Amino acid sequence: MEKKPFVTLEQLKEITKEYPTPFHLYDEKGIRENAERLKEAFAWNKGFKEYFAVKATPNPFILKILKEHGCGTDCSSMTELMMSHACGFKEHEIMFSSNDTPAEEFRFANDLGAVINLDDFTHIQYLEDAIGGIPETISCRYNPGGLFKISNDIMDNPGDAKYGMTTEQIFDAFKILKEKGAKYFGIHAFLASNTVTNEYYPMLAKVLFEVAVRLHKETGANIRFINLSGGIGIPYSPDQEPNDIKVIGEGVRKVYEEVLVPAGMGDVALYTELGRFMLGPYGCLVTKAIHEKHTYKEYVGVDACAVNLMRPAVYGAYHHITVAGKEGMACDHTYDVVGSLCENCDKFAIDRSLPEIEKGDLLVIHDTGAHGFSMGYNYNGKLKSAELLLKEDGSVEMIRRAETAKDYFATFDFCEVMKDYS
Ligand SMILES: *Cc1c(COP(=O)(O)O)cnc(C)c1O
Repeated sequence: MEKKPFVTLEQLKEITKEYPTPFHLYDEKGIRENAERLKEAFAWNKGFKEYFAVKATPNPFILKILKEHGCGTDCSSMTELMMSHACGFKEHEIMFSSNDTPAEEFRFANDLGAVINLDDFTHIQYLEDAIGGIPETISCRYNPGGLFKISNDIMDNPGDAKYGMTTEQIFDAFKILKEKGAKYFGIHAFLASNTVTNEYYPMLAKVLFEVAVRLHKETGANIRFINLSGGIGIPYSPDQEPNDIKVIGEGVRKVYEEVLVPAGMGDVALYTELGRFMLGPYGCLVTKAIHEKHTYKEYVGVDACAVNLMRPAVYGAYHHITVAGKEGMACDHTYDVVGSLCENCDKFAIDRSLPEIEKGDLLVIHDTGAHGFSMGYNYNGKLKSAELLLKEDGSVEMIRRAETAKDYFATFDFCEVMKDYS
């Protein structure tokens, strides 16, 4: 499918008059429409709720938008809990799906009344010690082990993943938690990441629903919700077919009616913890071409680098690039599009066919709305960019300013000279 940016060159020219490149830009309209599509796809399930994975795009303005569409938050750390709290998410609107969790984070999550999702069997005791009891509502993360396959395609390798409890452990966990006073139970699993197939959620649902029925029968636990977690992907490359959330919702419904309803569990709420699917396509990184270099290859140097978007450098991930205003032109040049880090992996694209790029051209790097800005770091003393929101009325709001040298130097008190840099 052809990939088109959600902004035009004309809009970008206006935006860059006020905000220097690079910046991440988010599309409010796209975010809202997509959140509604998800809600509709699961409207058949009475208790359905999406807990947006904060780590994908930890910005309070984005969280507020999603809140207006009925989303809660899924947190994995102290600061994500704090941000959720500050945005007005309350009690069971917050899911705490952490792992390797420090005691103070369990305490804070419990103080907020968040749903705690235990990653490990040993965390039962650890949590009890940390908060002085077991909450009434508790969730456990399940890992069935082995390979996760759809037909003959290996989707992912849960047996190799650090997350979740084994089958035996989750049965023991439910029994012990029940003895310790837990009343309402949830189950969670995340078995494959960035899936671009309508089969993943229904397959995962089958695994989770079947184990839920057995857990209910064997332990008597009152299972209130099943959390399908994240993992619904997006088509980063133009040759991928996007997921159809309506088809996914119906696929899960079918399994729900086959497995849960006959077991008398037709009132179990379904939760999701999507990050990438909620935000990925509705953000882009806008950067300017500042250099061209002709050596053994053709390079275009841009003013963004892996600090702004590390997926290509770390995972070799594909991010589509559009040269703004040159959408219709032939892609008859081959470039490596590179950033300025002293790391050869700092390449947004390698041997990419693009139209001829001139210095000053604006490049739109697609699908950076999730796990984009948030994975950023400060290597080479580089500063993080601003985040901007393209609002539904076409205006632009800065929802996070760019870092300054002052921010970078803020964590040590060395000398007056540094304090003066801005
Ligand atoms: C990262 C994560 C998510 C979101 O994953 P996406 O691939 O962005 O949908 C959800 N739940 C947990 C526990 C996670 O770690």
